[in-house]
Amino acid sequence: MSILESPRTTQPIYQRLSDQRKGVLVNELQALLGTTHVLHTPYDVALYEYDASIDHARPDIVVFPADSQDVAKIVKLANRYQVPVVPRGAGTGLSGGAIPLYGGIVIVFARMNRILEIDYENMRAVVQPGLVNLHLSNALSPHGFYYVPDPSSQRACTIGGNVGENAGGPHTLIYGVTTNHVLGLEIVTAEGNLVEIGGQTCDTPGYDLTGLLIGSEGTLCIVTKIIVRIVPVAEAVKTLVAVFDSIEDASNTVSEIIASGIIPAAIEMMDKMILQAVEADTHAGYPMDAAAVLLMETEGLREYVADELEKIVNVCHHNHARIVRIAKDETERQLLWAGRKNAFGAVGRISPEFYVQDGVVPRTQLPHVLRRVSEICEHYGLRVGNVFHAGDGNLHPLLLFDSQIPGEIERVRQAGHEILQVCAEVGGTITGEHGVGLEKQEEMALIFSPIDLHVMQSVRNVFNPQQLFNPGKLFPQPGRCAEVKQL
Ligand SMILES: Cc1cc2nc3c(=O)[nH]c(=O)nc-3n(C[C@H](O)[C@H](O)[C@H](O)COP(=O)(O)OP(=O)(O)OC[C@H]3O[C@@H](n4cnc5c(N)ncnc54)[C@H](O)[C@@H]3O)c2cc1C
Repeated sequence: MSILESPRTTQPIYQRLSDQRKGVLVNELQALLGTTHVLHTPYDVALYEYDASIDHARPDIVVFPADSQDVAKIVKLANRYQVPVVPRGAGTGLSGGAIPLYGGIVIVFARMNRILEIDYENMRAVVQPGLVNLHLSNALSPHGFYYVPDPSSQRACTIGGNVGENAGGPHTLIYGVTTNHVLGLEIVTAEGNLVEIGGQTCDTPGYDLTGLLIGSEGTLCIVTKIIVRIVPVAEAVKTLVAVFDSIEDASNTVSEIIASGIIPAAIEMMDKMILQAVEADTHAGYPMDAAAVLLMETEGLREYVADELEKIVNVCHHNHARIVRIAKDETERQLLWAGRKNAFGAVGRISPEFYVQDGVVPRTQLPHVLRRVSEICEHYGLRVGNVFHAGDGNLHPLLLFDSQIPGEIERVRQAGHEILQVCAEVGGTITGEHGVGLEKQEEMALIFSPIDLHVMQSVRNVFNPQQLFNPGKLFPQPGRCAEVKQL
């Protein structure tokens, strides 16, 4: 039978734990991990209901394994009790990936947070999944190396979570996202076996399973070890801020820079609302009256950087930049980046809540799509700010709201859906880096045909036949709640 003919699995069997079965399972987990590493009271597990998205669901049990063997044993137990297992890094995900929709066991990797090996000669490191992203670069920097993928959440998010979401970041424009920097994985399969995928070299024979598993959002395997590439810090780096009086001019600058054959290390855009929040928060020296600012960086050999910098400045002036400012030293550079990387947090100053969208559009469509984003938000009576990876055409409209206002969450979700519709219509896609999770299941149908989705589900069924790994994620779910079965 070909993969396309295999039966669809639309009715996975989820087992909600009864109190009695939960008690027995808790005892077994405590015997395995120790009492303090198993949480099970509603009060203790409440924190793990959430990630950084707007959905939530309560786990039955939260566990903190010490090593890969623990994880394998937890999965075997989950199999025996037929309960879902949801891996969780730092819970900074923006699409609900780590939310245990059907309860079950959440595996938190906070104790598996070590760098196991650094091999500078061969430019590799082996890390545990709970390692905080920035901690790797901090450890490498005295030796003149760093780890490239740098999500704005890198002070908190884990490399396991980055693998789960195939995370990007401001500096992945030129160097590529997580999948371009991971060579191999150790994983626990749905049966509870430890398996090594990929390896120390750039290419391994056979299927590219590492590529397949990166971005699988905890639905195909649980990652217990990661072999990453590390790279030397560039000889020179220059950071510049270009200030514009119109979004169109800023967007055209992005298109023109890339069209002229220059790919800077980063091109980030912030609009007026975001600039005002960021400046009040970080005091990085961003203008509060500008319509948009581009934060750009070029790096490499000294002569190359000087040449590229000049070309970028010329393109900015050609597109009516009001000011182009080059950071005079490392302190100013760090401050400008702190402003950008703290932007989501800074928005807390102007709104009690916000919802971040994550669509991708061809760069040339940026002015049109940003206009449509404003129109859609205006239609739903919502304020919106934009801070995003402009070089990648990866939009992040932040829709401000207050869940205390009746109907506001529904309006936010509907506006988010319409924004993604626009992204799909102009030839873009529904997520650049935050994943599908719970949030974008319905939108998968905007870019994939039923047969595309069926092929993907068939892959999931091979790796995760009982759908105990992160059930209810990624795919459109008709009658989601009706599928929960109490045993
Ligand atoms: C302020 C802010 C800024 C952000 N900026 C960016 C950005 O610039 N770029 C970007 O890409 N994202 C960004 N994000 C989103 C988020 O930080 C990333 O998706 C990040 O990769 C999530 O890591 P985490 O450790 O928090 O994972 P979690 O949220 O805990 O989990 C994410 C997914 O990975 C799975 N997972 C976790 N650990 C494992 C494991 N060991 N094995 C298998 N699956 C696993 C989970 O099940 C879930 O599906 C931002 C978020 C915030 C709050």
